[in-house]
Amino acid sequence: MILPYTTPTESLSHPTLTNLGLGLEVKRLDLVHPEVSGNKFFKLKYNLEHAKNEGKSKILTFGGAFSNHIYATAEAAKTENLEAIGIIRGEKTEPLNTTLSHAERLGMQLHFIDRTTYRKKTEPGFIAGLKEKFGDFYLIPEGGTNGLAIQGTSEILGSEDQQFSFICSSIGTGGTFAGLYASLSEKQILLGFSSLKGEFILNEISDLIDEYQLASQGSYEIFTNYHFGGYAKHKQELIDFIWWFYESFGIALDPIYTGKMAFGLWELICTGYFPKGSKILMIHTGGLQGNVGFTDRTGIMLP
Ligand SMILES: *Cc1c(COP(=O)(O)O)cnc(C)c1O
Repeated sequence: MILPYTTPTESLSHPTLTNLGLGLEVKRLDLVHPEVSGNKFFKLKYNLEHAKNEGKSKILTFGGAFSNHIYATAEAAKTENLEAIGIIRGEKTEPLNTTLSHAERLGMQLHFIDRTTYRKKTEPGFIAGLKEKFGDFYLIPEGGTNGLAIQGTSEILGSEDQQFSFICSSIGTGGTFAGLYASLSEKQILLGFSSLKGEFILNEISDLIDEYQLASQGSYEIFTNYHFGGYAKHKQELIDFIWWFYESFGIALDPIYTGKMAFGLWELICTGYFPKGSKILMIHTGGLQGNVGFTDRTGIMLP
């Protein structure tokens, strides 16, 4: 899975950017690896390495039925010759959706649990029960955020990215944001767009920074007003924006994470948030595998 990888950066051109004197580039993590897409590649890489170093042959993780994390973990485990178990929230519905059927095809063993039991996913007693059932495994938490994940996401930015004054990323659990924060260079500002409804994410991020003692040369700001109703919720305005973005720049976005971030970023651009001459880097964290399931679920077409 691990090396080599490339994350091409693409420059976007648009009259609005020219008029405002702004530079905007997209770092395409969606293209980072043929099998393991997006930020999940970075979140998994040291975890799988560590699992192997500990002599584990099996990894276990948690996720919802359309989870990018489940999909990426199944891919990464297969590439690394590790067995994978996915504990999926909610009842099994057949036929399996495209995310889960793909994970199963890659050899991930799927195990469905009801939503109430799923909430115990971090309790030691519950984990011990899973070990009795499945044998010894290396545990990766839901969403994949832990210290090794942050070590991985702190490698997303390279020295070529020091030219940017602003870095923009979507936020779910915050593991990606935390790693980006730790790797900012001097005076860089990290802008985060939360996919989830609520201000709680501000505390989650500062807790991650404290827990992993992340120091940064830059600073950050988080926007909590681009959730479009909450996680996995959407509005027509967002779908229209995703199509507009695709038609303008030829880059597909997902409605759960990257679409919301790009919407927020574009609104900030149009409302004069960025000083003239700013160079902005937007991180495309991937997630496009979920678009098929989104269309199946809602009937809404996406690029
Ligand atoms: C998981 C995911 C995120 C959120 O990453 P966190 O580290 O949980 O904040 C953002 N974008 C995409 C496409 C994802 O799959």
